[in-house]
Amino acid sequence: MEYGRYAPSPSGDLHLGNLRTALLAWALARRSGRGFLMRVEDMDERSRPQFQERQLADLRALGLTWDGPVQIQSQRIGGYDAAFASLRERGLLYECYCTRRDLADAARAPHGAPGVYPGTCRDLSAAGRRAGRAKLAAVGRQPALRLRTEVKELTIHDEVCGEVSGVVDDFVIRRGDGRYAYNFASVVDDALEHITQVTRGADLAPSTPRQVYLQRLLGAPTPEYWHVPMVLNREGARLAKRDGAVTMRALAEYGWSPADVLALIGRSLGLEVRTAADFAQQLDARALRRRGPWYVDVAALEAGPDSRAS
Ligand code: GLU
Ligand code: ZN
Repeated sequence: MEYGRYAPSPSGDLHLGNLRTALLAWALARRSGRGFLMRVEDMDERSRPQFQERQLADLRALGLTWDGPVQIQSQRIGGYDAAFASLRERGLLYECYCTRRDLADAARAPHGAPGVYPGTCRDLSAAGRRAGRAKLAAVGRQPALRLRTEVKELTIHDEVCGEVSGVVDDFVIRRGDGRYAYNFASVVDDALEHITQVTRGADLAPSTPRQVYLQRLLGAPTPEYWHVPMVLNREGARLAKRDGAVTMRALAEYGWSPADVLALIGRSLGLEVRTAADFAQQLDARALRRRGPWYVDVAALEAGPDSRAS
């Protein structure tokens, strides 16, 4: 069986952008005859169990169903340890002693670029490594482990955006605090769970070349990617909880039932639907390619579902 998945991070309630991506992930998987898995990405220090419960409850209320138990990342460490050990044995990992400050300084340097690791610690001598460890130990920290990559860039195919080229730097595999990094955990999970379709927000598209590079190193197949358009507020900024009535909970206070929220998300894609099943059936996946972001007028939402200002 092949699967699609939705992989929320339980660091807050899901907002309309997250809910729409989840619905699309579910619909695209079901329509293509795939199974659908729910993966809670709770390895980030911002994760909270209560948000996990609330997120899953909201997704169920929208009508999403998933196969088997929810996959909880923090309970699957064994799979990451094995993949990590194999990278390490192959000499593909090296220690990085850079502090946040070092990384920020490097980004501002003449050839630096924000978010792209310049390889500072890649070829340190034994003495350099000792000095790096001592520097971190003095502030009570451990080195991060980075992947020694052989390319600078990779082009991937996306079902929504077409060809996407992006940076492949020596990205972090295990963080200085001992936790596995998102790119690594996500790739290992997709491989172990037989994920052949990845649907997520367009904001994650820049990570995908790194992830595909790592998949190839691990001998894992590359899934189909759908990076779906973002949901923005009236100012054109990414929707966030602080925008107001954008979560199921907050919308409920203004009279929105789960079915109303589903209908609203449907309208954002040109559909008139009342159930998740209708959504999956009527969705024109190709139309996603022509759609830009969805601009949400939160003040109009606060007027309630019947004002239909949205
Ligand atoms: N956990 C990520 C997020 O909530 C999504 C990761 C993914 O779909 O690969 O933004
Ligand atoms: Zn470094």
